[in-house]
Amino acid sequence: MADAVRTTCAYCGVGCGIRATVTGPRSVEIAGDPDHPANRGRLCSKGTHLAETVGLEGRLLHPMIGSKRASWDKALDLVAKRFKETISRHGPGSVAFYVSGQLLTEDYYVANKLMKGFIGTANIDTNSRLCMSSAVAGHMRAFGEDVVPATYDDLDAADLFVLVGSNTAWCHPIVYQRIRARCEAGAKLVVIDPRRTETAEEADLHLPIRPGSDVALMNGLLQHCRETGIIDDAYLAAHVAVPQDFWDQLGEGNDLWSVARICDVPAADLRHFYELFAANPRTVTLFSQGINQSTAGTDQVNAITNLHLATARIGKPGAAPFSITGQPNAMGGREVGGLASTLAAHMDFAPENRARVQRFWASPTIAEKPGLKAVDLFRGIGEGRIKALWVMATNPAVSMPDGNAVRDALKTCPFVVVSDVIEKTDTGAFAHVRLPAAAWGEKDGTVTNSDRTISRQRALFALPGEAMPDWWIVKEVGRRMGWKNAFTYDRAADIWREHCRLSTYDNDGARLFALPGAAQGGNAAYDDMQSFRWGGDHPFADGRFSTEDGRARLVPVAQKPLPEPLTKWPLTLNTGRYRDQWHTMTRTGLAPKLARHREEPLVEVHPDDGSRLGLTDGGLARVETPQGDSIYRVAFHSGQRHGELFVPIHWTDRTSSGGRTGLLPRPLVDPVSGQPGFKRTPASIAAVTPKWRGFLLLSRELAGTPRCLWAARVAVPAGVMWELAGNGDLKAIEALLPKGERIEAQDVARGTKRIAIVANGRLSGALFVTETGELPPRDWLIAQLSAPQVAPTLLAGRAPGAQTDRGPVICVCFDVGLKTIVGAIRDQKLANVAAIGGALGAGTNCGSCRPALTRILNEETTNAA
Ligand code: SF4
Repeated sequence: MADAVRTTCAYCGVGCGIRATVTGPRSVEIAGDPDHPANRGRLCSKGTHLAETVGLEGRLLHPMIGSKRASWDKALDLVAKRFKETISRHGPGSVAFYVSGQLLTEDYYVANKLMKGFIGTANIDTNSRLCMSSAVAGHMRAFGEDVVPATYDDLDAADLFVLVGSNTAWCHPIVYQRIRARCEAGAKLVVIDPRRTETAEEADLHLPIRPGSDVALMNGLLQHCRETGIIDDAYLAAHVAVPQDFWDQLGEGNDLWSVARICDVPAADLRHFYELFAANPRTVTLFSQGINQSTAGTDQVNAITNLHLATARIGKPGAAPFSITGQPNAMGGREVGGLASTLAAHMDFAPENRARVQRFWASPTIAEKPGLKAVDLFRGIGEGRIKALWVMATNPAVSMPDGNAVRDALKTCPFVVVSDVIEKTDTGAFAHVRLPAAAWGEKDGTVTNSDRTISRQRALFALPGEAMPDWWIVKEVGRRMGWKNAFTYDRAADIWREHCRLSTYDNDGARLFALPGAAQGGNAAYDDMQSFRWGGDHPFADGRFSTEDGRARLVPVAQKPLPEPLTKWPLTLNTGRYRDQWHTMTRTGLAPKLARHREEPLVEVHPDDGSRLGLTDGGLARVETPQGDSIYRVAFHSGQRHGELFVPIHWTDRTSSGGRTGLLPRPLVDPVSGQPGFKRTPASIAAVTPKWRGFLLLSRELAGTPRCLWAARVAVPAGVMWELAGNGDLKAIEALLPKGERIEAQDVARGTKRIAIVANGRLSGALFVTETGELPPRDWLIAQLSAPQVAPTLLAGRAPGAQTDRGPVICVCFDVGLKTIVGAIRDQKLANVAAIGGALGAGTNCGSCRPALTRILNEETTNAA
């Protein structure tokens, strides 16, 4: 067996270190890296199951022009020619790149350099715009530079955690485990989130505030700090610029009762929060999409930075505002300058910065001003201003707000290039040229995580087919566009060294982002690079910030009036992630174990609302907004606020004929950052009553999505399952069954039909539908896809004799279901999560299910009382 390769997880911005031991041509064993500072050996469920996702299933392995395979030369020549022609006819502003936090820093650097320094426009934006650009804008307003002033080590020193708009237990599980460990040693946890998430369930205090009222909450707390003498006047006097009427403005309408009314939380709970904050100078405030994805996102970020600056809770252990990023390399993109609103290496478009970067790149031109941010960029395509687009490593047809408008824009764009690892994506369907990119496990480069730690991602496997690294693809296009001398890189290390040199070029300390030592090493040093953090453990510890006068800024921010519900759209739609899925599921959707936690896209609704609106728990419902509509399975959840809905972001045209959440949000953005407000869309919901429901089980993938009212794909071992509902007849669905011996049963009275297909002595397909009857649990039938013999009870959908239904899977690592856990708690009198782990194994591997185990224990305790 080969030695373990030290690399970094493919998914979130926690940036966990991995030891990957290659065991075959496309197989690997994954373990947490005990020496990596981000995770110290731990991995969450997604990282743990990375090995299930490294196969070549669904990969794009060759360049494609239209639907035809092409050579690299032909495809690259065409891309370069069409971009050059478009620029010469319509100017540099007529082309754009839309890139991704999935790119490595080296990929990002080359794309940014080509667009801003050679094409000469800043029309390169990234899907990180959708994720954390409000944090970037807030940092720049407060600190003068986009610097996260916290590290994970601060989590081990804090006495109070304030999590704002962050379901950390699901979205950043390893960060959450560090927080829990500190809480077990006595620290307090406050969660501010409209939903009672699993993170909120474990908090000392949960404030389920009205969506969009965060500024009122933070301003009220700041006012309380002023009234109770918590403000550090000496620190402000020495290190922070405070606008003249800042405190006068703050005093208006921010009393406890007004804030409680605006936020719709009990005043006593609000006071408790204020008192906890006042009593604990070592406070870390972590925030993510609930803060950033708002039309007031930048103000919300600055409401948080104001608090930390005014109380001097910054630049010291255990005290900082902490933006936790979603994507694995959103931070690397920020460092490179991959956002349309920055130039490069933490420099903006000031004349001296433009001159410096142009000098360094020896480029013929340099972008004059910020380019189009994501929403405006796709609007520009729709309006015909952008005529050539290159999308790299992202799927905007799914992830952008107002997905229908984005799709219409892509349809009309004269030239669309998509480089991706996946053959069929919703965005790729609009591409004139598709270029096969290297995937995780094949790429070589660096990523930066949420606490500024730079780590290596290392290749585990040879490049499959004709796939190439993104940096190579962009470099080749740059050379073909006529800039051979500027794009001479032979390997990722060449780009890394140039990136490091730019960070220190003519940098007299005005920019904290600098990688001085890193520029010196050779290829061997790059190969051996150990994780390191730029900016130090406590940036701003000396009270000096990256502004011209060295002072931070208190930024006056005021709560905007919150609109009343509209008659046609009386509900508020919120969107977010599931614990075990990642973005559009192109990778996690391959792992059957990760599908077990949430198999379908659900719309979560408070039971009172559900009953009032005629919905059924487990039934279907259509969610409609001014932008579009989608169908989801209904899940009643008392953790939802009344009048609010929650839906997941992960499902696409390829995986569902409903549940496409990107179609629903409005393309409204924060005026400073340009980040879309995904969290507060006016919506309505209505029950959908299909004629029949059912499921289709297959040993092979389908070419498309089953044509019926609603379909959702579920990865299962040795095959795939589609949950279905429809109104029409079943002919089109039956036609999807494979050839083979057909076993069939029908109950006309209930409208039930069960078909099993046996080929080569094995189950190869099954279709179970019913109009009024019950459908069997799926587990046993799924297992029959890999059973060596055909069971005689296939059409019963269960093994001969009694069968235990273990309920929905809670622990994906050990495949432990809810009913098994509840039974063990009752029968064995298990009193805590450790005892459940001892009895069933649940929660003892990645730990992602521990919050769920706590909730189940609490419910059982309540039921027993
Ligand atoms: S928390 Fe999970 S998904 Fe995020 S980097 Fe770590 S292992 Fe990967």
